[in-house]
Amino acid sequence: MSHAPPHRTHEPAPLDAALVWFRRDLRAHDHAALYHALRSARRVWCAFVFDRDILDPLLERGLAADRRVEFIHASLAPLDEALAALGRDHGREGVRLLVRHGHAVAEIDRLARELHVQAVYANHDDEPAALQRDAQVRGLLARHGIALHTSKDHVIFERKEVLSAAGAPYSVFTPYRNAWLKKLEPFFLEAYPVEKHAAALAPVPEAIATQMPTLESLGFRRSNLHELKIPVGWPGACALLEDFLPRMAEYDRTRDFPAVKGPSYLSVHLRFGTCSIRTLAREAHARAGAGSEGARVWLSELVWRDFYHQILHHHPRVAGHAFKPEYDALHWEHGKHAEQHFAAWCEGRSGYPLVDAAMRQLAQTGYMHNRLRMVVASFLTKDLGIDWRRGEQHFADHLNDFDLAANNGGWQWAASTGCDAQPWFRIFNPVTQSRRFDPQGRFIRRYLPALAKLPDELIHAPWEARPVDLAAAGVELGGNYPAPIVRHAEARERTLARYAAVKKRS
Ligand code: FAD
Repeated sequence: MSHAPPHRTHEPAPLDAALVWFRRDLRAHDHAALYHALRSARRVWCAFVFDRDILDPLLERGLAADRRVEFIHASLAPLDEALAALGRDHGREGVRLLVRHGHAVAEIDRLARELHVQAVYANHDDEPAALQRDAQVRGLLARHGIALHTSKDHVIFERKEVLSAAGAPYSVFTPYRNAWLKKLEPFFLEAYPVEKHAAALAPVPEAIATQMPTLESLGFRRSNLHELKIPVGWPGACALLEDFLPRMAEYDRTRDFPAVKGPSYLSVHLRFGTCSIRTLAREAHARAGAGSEGARVWLSELVWRDFYHQILHHHPRVAGHAFKPEYDALHWEHGKHAEQHFAAWCEGRSGYPLVDAAMRQLAQTGYMHNRLRMVVASFLTKDLGIDWRRGEQHFADHLNDFDLAANNGGWQWAASTGCDAQPWFRIFNPVTQSRRFDPQGRFIRRYLPALAKLPDELIHAPWEARPVDLAAAGVELGGNYPAPIVRHAEARERTLARYAAVKKRS
């Protein structure tokens, strides 16, 4: 089976010209919208807009050294080069990525008219703000008789593709995954053969060619992305995948230990589409089929990603509200005390080493290990009693891989307000989690040098250590490392009461 759109039974008359609008899909290979445009039009241009509707609010919140913006900026160069190379392979010089800075709605409308295209092609983005933006673009283009065609690209199955036998969306993961796996045929994992059709890529007319804007001209400045050596663009994603493939077989055993190189670190690439989900799922599916437990578990993680995307599609209210509405009535902590606790959590000063090390990993690198995301989210909501939406926003501001669907799903899971969430009475003990998943404190030592000299058995709960041991390790509680801001056992009781009150009312 090929990637001809399934609804087409015959080839329509080709368009003269089309524009491909890149958004969260910054690659030139295995790209649904690019493929469909190349098959449908004689001349195809490609564009990316640094959208002021997204960027200006970041600047207003003081996030001028945003790693994501820099990641996108750095990933556009390899995309531009890949498009130029595809053009050259077909004897076309001057194929470039058009890059604009402005309001995407107006910029795409303007570009489409300047280029006299009959259609704009893009890939689905199901976040509520993106859907609104696309509806606006569709309306503006329609006034000039220009169509906006969008396709699935970001996930394996989207929207209503995986439904229960009764035709309802799933809200529990395991039956969703079973249905997902049942529906999976090789066709869904096939790459879109963009290369075969790249002869339609057209050189950029001189009149509208512009230079790539600098990060500074966008109002941003360099972050530490380069010092962190985070690989960017399609080549960066390929390098990470090459590195991960031999490790995939171990994933089920290594993935929970933050000090170990267990996961793939591909999330930022999945977020910005610098790798193709089909490639990843194909690699995992083949290995899982050959009996690899690590690959089976990793494939499940990719299914979680689809799962949360379809949850957001079917229940857009989860952006801002509990999936289970009764939990919107939870009484979260407010006031000066809660503000101090929130600040301590954000800055890695809770006094719980694993939580603090994780929050410092986030601040310093924009990444946080999955186990730690669960631990710190549980700590914020169930030890500090602070509204999950505040943690969700903090993650949204700082995670390189921030994705509304996955982040919301993760937070609602931890806060027990979500679909298929952690039961409300199950409360992570941050010390037990630390002993279990960072037994020698290797991860803690990496991010909390003040505790580095504590012996393994004391590093998880320094307040339990004898003063003589603390002194020997150079640790001064309340000095170079904070005393715990809450007692877990008491916080646990408060949380049980907080949730029980809601359960009782509902
Ligand atoms: P791997 O372990 O290699 O997993 C491979 C891929 O599977 C990931 O890149 C990701 O795309 C997907 N994946 C893995 N776990 C999940 C999951 N639980 N839900 C959805 N997709 C998953 N992931 C994000 O991509 N963006 C977020 O904003 C985000 N916020 C989170 C917030 C919380 C509170 C929690 C508990 C989890 C969150 N996750 C988020 C899920 C997960 O933590 C990250 O995807 C993962 O840590 C990324 O690292 P990796 O690429 O090395 O993952």
